[in-house]
Amino acid sequence: MFTESQREILSSAGLDVNEDQAALLTAVIDDPQKSTSLNNSELIGFLEIANFLYRAGDQIISDQVYDFIFLAELQKRLPHHPFLTKVEPESSFSGKKRALPERMLSTEKAYSRDDVKRWAARVVRFAQSIELDADLLSIRVTPKLDGFAAYDDGRTLYTRGDGRRGSDISRVFDRGLKVGGDGKRGQGPGEIVVNHEYFLDKLSVLFDNSRNFQAAVLAPKRVTPEVQSALDSGAVLFYPFRQLPGWKGLLSDFLEDFESIVTTVNEKLLYDVDGVVIESSDREIRQQMGATQHHHRWQIAFKENVETAEVEVIEVIPNTSRSGRVNPVARLQPTRLSGATLSRASAHHYRMVESRGIGPGAVIRLVRSGLVIPKIEAVLKPVTPQLPEYCPSCDSDLVWKGDYLYCPNTAVCPAQIENAIEHFFRSLQNIDGFGAKTVEKLHAHGITSIAEIYSLSEYQLNEMGFGPKQSENLIAELRRSREEEVEDWRFLGAFGLNRMGFGNCERLLQHHRLETLFRLTSEELVKIEGFATKTAELVVAELNRVKPLFGAVYQLGFNLKRTSLQSEGHLQAGPLTGKQIVFTGVMTQGSRTEMESEAKKMGAIIGKSVTGKTDYLVAGEKVGESKIKQALARGTTCLLEEEYLQLVRSGRDESGG
Ligand SMILES: [Zn+2]
Repeated sequence: MFTESQREILSSAGLDVNEDQAALLTAVIDDPQKSTSLNNSELIGFLEIANFLYRAGDQIISDQVYDFIFLAELQKRLPHHPFLTKVEPESSFSGKKRALPERMLSTEKAYSRDDVKRWAARVVRFAQSIELDADLLSIRVTPKLDGFAAYDDGRTLYTRGDGRRGSDISRVFDRGLKVGGDGKRGQGPGEIVVNHEYFLDKLSVLFDNSRNFQAAVLAPKRVTPEVQSALDSGAVLFYPFRQLPGWKGLLSDFLEDFESIVTTVNEKLLYDVDGVVIESSDREIRQQMGATQHHHRWQIAFKENVETAEVEVIEVIPNTSRSGRVNPVARLQPTRLSGATLSRASAHHYRMVESRGIGPGAVIRLVRSGLVIPKIEAVLKPVTPQLPEYCPSCDSDLVWKGDYLYCPNTAVCPAQIENAIEHFFRSLQNIDGFGAKTVEKLHAHGITSIAEIYSLSEYQLNEMGFGPKQSENLIAELRRSREEEVEDWRFLGAFGLNRMGFGNCERLLQHHRLETLFRLTSEELVKIEGFATKTAELVVAELNRVKPLFGAVYQLGFNLKRTSLQSEGHLQAGPLTGKQIVFTGVMTQGSRTEMESEAKKMGAIIGKSVTGKTDYLVAGEKVGESKIKQALARGTTCLLEEEYLQLVRSGRDESGG
């Protein structure tokens, strides 16, 4: 489940998560391989949330799981989705994926000493259950590399991919990449890392962060001269995990001397490191504790790469958003933290300002993890806070709703109007020129709605004080925004309905056409997965609120790309359409999850275990005979992998010919 602070962050961004969604997302976080079972809008919604929490410094999944499982899944399904261009480029590796010589798992993460203690207690209990002497358990602590995971079998260097199959990136060795430790090739899993002094000194002017640089090292065609010099000088390395320096000793000693051991190990390497990896070094424990789908149970990573600073608050500025919510922004004495000068931090909501005493003269502890948005961790010296009584934009009396202060003057408040207009144009993504300044100027000349903006002429813009060239451009941009195709869910989301982020908009449009949305009742909405009763009622109210504006803008004629309705599904029936299929065993053609999602695209319903309704059991290698017998007894057709592929091909031939 999401923590209180994660919920707070999400809700301040208007990304409210209901209980059903939270349960679904939690299941996916626990077992990322389930990403294939999400539908498109769930997947995008998840990416939005994960990305936002990451940027807010409260991440829910590791960067690698985010990139190589979730983004990769989106890439596979919707290669042109705008989300993919929003993120760092390293997720897109074209070319054929090859099976990794061995499975590469993630590492379970611990963010506190208590998490590590709980893990240690599990190892001890397990040791006792197999009658090992718990007092003699030994562990190894090594730096946790924060680079680009790869696997070197001596001939080929692979990306981690989905942990089973990765892309060939051997070209990086051809470019002169060196190996850390003893310098030998063929030592299995490791990471490509960069010396952080070198990065700060030579590369930080060219790259926002070392992840961007790692991506440039892997660039498919050629590398820039700066990257080549970094390779030549040995500032970038492939570091095999096996070669990592570290600490070895008894588990009990480690727990006793936790802080100093972690600090020492953390400083052993001058490369990108963001914590330590703690693992059992007892062979029996490793073999018998085994792994989940996601991580080895005998290993845990402890991450603590946070920088903190004690900062004085100059003032807390109220900021009215498009929904009328008044957000407190703390202006700070400028402070250097993780390589950036910070002068502002969000105080989340006014209940927090009030209860924790944030105001002029207060001293706060600011935390920044890596390159993400800083947050207020603690108030060290509280003051008596001053809460705003009036909207900073329109002077209306503010009202409390839960933890937030709101400006109730929805119809006339300039901040709400201008932010809503800006949100509309920003969301469409096919129009430039309508940023804060332009919108403010338009509003100052009496423009209060998007529909009015679209009715403006070049002459009118000129009259408002826009230059001739700018007026011409603005009109051309308005035309472009109607002519260039835009997804209907993006168009709907641009109206800024509460509870209707892009994910929910797409989900809704998978069940109902845009034109019929405004007639929906909450009873009809509840039938859609992810809309609980309360959300449905709010959404209906919100749809009614924007209905007049929506109608006026919609009739201007936008080039909308319709979301396909789930009921339309697959136009052409193939051999898998409507069939219930269970995949089992180890597949040779691709990972099982890949095959499952392929089958799903062809209209199959994927099951986890064979039931009376299962049509096909597709068996890879290493499948127990009893499983096959049980399936046959239930009337299920059992197919070997090759037979299954023939069946799929037969369908393609028919539809092709
Ligand atoms: Zn106001």
